[in-house]
Amino acid sequence: MNQPITPEESLQRIRIVLSRPSHPGNIGAAARAMKTMGLSRLYLVNPKSFPDPEADARATGAVDVLHAAAVCATLDEALAGTIHAVAVSARRRDLGPQPQPARDGVANLLGFAQQGEVALVFGNETTGLSNDEVQRCQSAVTIPTAPDFSSLNLGAAVQLLCYEARMTALAAPAVLGDPKVTPFTSPLATLDEAEGFYAHLETVMVESGFMDPAKPKRLLPKLRRLFGRAGLEKDEVNILRGILTATQLAEKRQKNR
Ligand code: SAH
Repeated sequence: MNQPITPEESLQRIRIVLSRPSHPGNIGAAARAMKTMGLSRLYLVNPKSFPDPEADARATGAVDVLHAAAVCATLDEALAGTIHAVAVSARRRDLGPQPQPARDGVANLLGFAQQGEVALVFGNETTGLSNDEVQRCQSAVTIPTAPDFSSLNLGAAVQLLCYEARMTALAAPAVLGDPKVTPFTSPLATLDEAEGFYAHLETVMVESGFMDPAKPKRLLPKLRRLFGRAGLEKDEVNILRGILTATQLAEKRQKNR
């Protein structure tokens, strides 16, 4: 059973991931937004310009968070080791996880934070998150807005989510009492372990003729959504990969006959 952690420790387990930010000022604003709410782990995926004096200027008082930011080449790199990632997006998608209002999604995220590292993933200022990026995440949130104008500034969106996280973390007994955070029999799989499984599954689906790589349809995004909803545990990933390996060996034996 996991030991309960303090609200401040829960907040420290949340990574704020900015994917492809184009304005360094927004990176600085995000660092400041985080620090005011007790978060400190900033990850930048392919920032257009970083470090940058504009980022320092907008971070006033939070340059420690800014300068400690991890710069990553891919979203997978930024999410390595996390057990749950939330896509923060204003737009509805055909595929990917069903979006929840920010407050509910953050409460869910803090439940996962009791068990390990988690992430909130924000998109580029102009294009938002790509479908591929959203599909890397196991859940999604939208900040409720006026119906005719839903796009917040990136720094403002980070501030709101960090505020919600702080308010929920301080109401921790309610979060810890949530049945969804009952300790699992096996720890949750990390994103990299889940990605290893998806890649293996894809290989077997192609080898077995189930999936035509030229016409993959929406098979993989649908399977990602299914397993994302399930919340894969480490043991479950090992079992599923064991089945895939056994299937591959059986196919090989049949071919060699
Ligand atoms: N034009 C873009 C919006 C980009 S705003 C689009 O259509 O997606 C930059 C980022 O701020 C978004 O990718 C998202 O992470 C966050 N954001 C802005 N408004 C939001 C909202 N109403 N709900 C959730 N996230 C929002």
